[in-house]
Amino acid sequence: MDSEHFIDITFLTMKVTNKGKSIFANKHFNAHSFIIEFRGKVYTKEEYIRRLNPSNNHYLQISDELFLGPTRTADNYINHSCNPNTGIKIIDGAVLLFSIKPIHRGEEITFDYSTTMAEDYWEMNCCCGTKNCRGKVRDFKHLPRELQEKYIGLGIVPDFVIRHSNRSLQLAM
Ligand SMILES: [Zn+2]
Repeated sequence: MDSEHFIDITFLTMKVTNKGKSIFANKHFNAHSFIIEFRGKVYTKEEYIRRLNPSNNHYLQISDELFLGPTRTADNYINHSCNPNTGIKIIDGAVLLFSIKPIHRGEEITFDYSTTMAEDYWEMNCCCGTKNCRGKVRDFKHLPRELQEKYIGLGIVPDFVIRHSNRSLQLAM
């Protein structure tokens, strides 16, 4: 626990784990609670591809062509999980993370990176260790239909991701 220290948001704590820097809840969050806003400089897809370190990607896609760049705040260090406890909602241009289930104090905050991915570019091997781990983090369109519907029902799939996924479906038919 000696590497534990507070960062910008009092209710979140960063710890270094075997996954690298990770963010933990420092209090109990009810389901549907606001957790943190994602910020950062906005980059075009072309800039993103040029700057990306594929083994350490801290960019977040926010539209078909735009990505939020890395920051030095908690939003930068939230890990992927195939069984996440939060998800992203883009509301009036703000990129906001909400819990999708109750989160206990001390639990790691995670979201499913695939819910915001419609890029046809980067992929990552997953070792999140959950029972339903897919083994790969890829664009939303590659998720099983049932899981897509679950995430869409939770309101945590941005419109551009749903449109991209539907377009790919139509092309495949
Ligand atoms: Zn996984």
